[in-house]
Amino acid sequence: MYPRVILKGILYKKSQQKRRTSPCNYKERYFVLNTEDLTYSERRPGKKPVLKGCIELSRIKCVETVRSDLPIPCEYKYPFQVVYDSYHLYVFAPDNDCRLKWVRALKEETKCNNLEKNYHPDFWGEGKWRCCNRTDKLATGCSDYYPSGCASKKPLPPTPNAERRFSSQELRIVVAMKNFIPQEFTDIALHKDEEYTVIDCSEPNWWTVRDKHGHVGTVPCIYVKEKLSNNIEHFEWYNKNVTRTEAEELLTAVDKEGAFMVRDSRHAGVYTVSVFTKAPGSNGEKYPRVKHYKIRETEDEEPKYYLAEKYLFSSIPELITYHQHNAAGLITRLRHCVSQGQGKSPRIEELESEEWEIDMEDLTLGEELGSGQFGLVLQGLYRGEKVAVKTIREGAMSEEEFKEEARVMMKVSHPKLVRLYGVCTQQSPMYLVFEFLKNGCLAEYLRSRKGSVSQETFLGMCLDVSEAMAYLESSNFIHRDLAARNCLVSEDLVVKVSDFGMTRFVLDDQYTSYTSKFPVKWSSPEVIRYNKFSSKSDVWSFGVLMWEVYSEGRLPYECRTNGEVVESLNAGLRLLKPRLCPEPVYQLMQWCWKEKPEDRPSFVLLFHELASLADI
Ligand code: ADP
Repeated sequence: MYPRVILKGILYKKSQQKRRTSPCNYKERYFVLNTEDLTYSERRPGKKPVLKGCIELSRIKCVETVRSDLPIPCEYKYPFQVVYDSYHLYVFAPDNDCRLKWVRALKEETKCNNLEKNYHPDFWGEGKWRCCNRTDKLATGCSDYYPSGCASKKPLPPTPNAERRFSSQELRIVVAMKNFIPQEFTDIALHKDEEYTVIDCSEPNWWTVRDKHGHVGTVPCIYVKEKLSNNIEHFEWYNKNVTRTEAEELLTAVDKEGAFMVRDSRHAGVYTVSVFTKAPGSNGEKYPRVKHYKIRETEDEEPKYYLAEKYLFSSIPELITYHQHNAAGLITRLRHCVSQGQGKSPRIEELESEEWEIDMEDLTLGEELGSGQFGLVLQGLYRGEKVAVKTIREGAMSEEEFKEEARVMMKVSHPKLVRLYGVCTQQSPMYLVFEFLKNGCLAEYLRSRKGSVSQETFLGMCLDVSEAMAYLESSNFIHRDLAARNCLVSEDLVVKVSDFGMTRFVLDDQYTSYTSKFPVKWSSPEVIRYNKFSSKSDVWSFGVLMWEVYSEGRLPYECRTNGEVVESLNAGLRLLKPRLCPEPVYQLMQWCWKEKPEDRPSFVLLFHELASLADI
């Protein structure tokens, strides 16, 4: 078996023979650590690499950072030492992270060796050890050596707070709950309420973190807690330094129902959602007003976040996305994200609205294509291009809400999504103008071509939809009604996803209240039970869509009522494998139909799985 490569990269090394510390004694080398040895070679452009040294790992007795105030005469300023046999190899890394990475990896690979108990933390130079002034190069080290694993065995300081919390390693920002004074030179200080970036949390007790000045070192992990979820700074809705009063002013100035922002609360590491509403309060509260909801955490080991009980999320972005679609206990759904400095003049607003308002004069209406949820769909011509025009029957759509959202929907743009060109809102009925797809609705297309669609095409169709959905997922946009009837087929058989997010504007009770028109057969258990929509509920629907594709457009659970379907789902039953469906594709469907949303794959993953089946 070949040795496995663990780390590789360019580092500097100091010549072991030369006495003088002249810059020319520091050489750039390409280091490779594998499971058997540490090698370094010279690499010059256009020349074959020349191996300059090889240290078998079994010979290594100590690996540690070098702590020295000696100026480093090469470009890489972060030294560490590798002690083997009776030699000292000094290696220089470009930064502290890189140094720690090498030291940790080397320690890990040599932890079972016959190791030194002590070592010299500073350089040997000018005939003595700079740390202890001993002149014997082989003199026993003057500091305790902590090999890998031992650092985590050093006793931990007393627990500051029994409610210690940390969860997945992906969550990188932590807040210190208490001050910590370094005990070892590899430690760094913690200052209460300050934030630290986690670099390595693989050790059970001592984590490596970076402070705001860039210092890296170990700290006891029980002294830190995760900053509420992952980094939310890049989200448009997050306003870092906005106070309660400023938030009220900003939101009131926007004067839109559901205008909201997330801001820092007065307490470190806690966030508040501020939302503007014009709705009258139940206790005679005056309105319009701004309501503030603290983002709360559960007491679990892996805390969940919530605004209103019962709707728990493992991160703040998930929580916000959910409440952008569901009020669920809030005074209103979070509709318009407001950020500081975003205030636009009415003229700019007008300009923007012009972007999505289509002039009726540019539009020619043609024959009927079909009839949908909101009314007739007509073919049309817009600036020389074929389009599909949805006419909105009076009373079928929550028009005001739709107009607010149309802007967002127009921004969501991807080659596998049916494009919304714009809207004509100046007349009644209102028109929505979409990209035209010649082969119409996917479900219908499959039914009409029964027996003639190839396996390759089936897979390609699923792949197209998964690609569009991966894009929506990454844009935090939930479709809510994914099904073959809501996909369209282009002339060259590309499948595009349509009607994303549109169910939110349906005013038909039959559609919204789990009665006849509610798409129960495409809905996940949490949507059926709690109305809890997410990208993972879209994944469930995608599983059903794949089933429709491989069943050539058949209706799922054809002979069963919605009630019967719910019952069989509760009993753990799922749709059976369609005759034309290959086993690996059916396995993906079953993965989409996992009871718990978190057990289902993401769309990105599904896309990759399907692409590998399609051998792309
Ligand atoms: P709704 O979403 O309002 O229920 P649909 O999207 O189902 O309406 O549209 C009804 C029918 O109109 C579809 O089955 C399809 O045949 C046709 N249609 C809708 N949009 C397009 C389009 N962009 N290109 C071509 N045909 C379309």
